[in-house]
Amino acid sequence: MPTYDYECRECEHTWELFQSIKAKPIRKCPECGKLKAKRVIGPGAGIIFKGSGFYQTDYRSSSYKKGAEADKKAKESAKKSAKSETKSSDSKSSYS
Ligand SMILES: [Zn+2]
Repeated sequence: MPTYDYECRECEHTWELFQSIKAKPIRKCPECGKLKAKRVIGPGAGIIFKGSGFYQTDYRSSSYKKGAEADKKAKESAKKSAKSETKSSDSKSSYS
């Protein structure tokens, strides 16, 4: 039976649990009793990722989206500042 690492998203308690591969991941944290437990899939256990690591996937994709958005905004503002720079240099040359 494989050992699964669990982590509680409520109290950050981590523990290991022997479970059969067919067993569903538990939700209840033994430390605080909240249903915030998630099975942590370490490197090398990627095959079991399907169906059990969706919390991680959710978290990753949302943070990735945010990062991409911020990057986009930064690019846009860079574009804007580049434009205003051209303008100001234009007005400068026409001024002198
Ligand atoms: Zn907990």
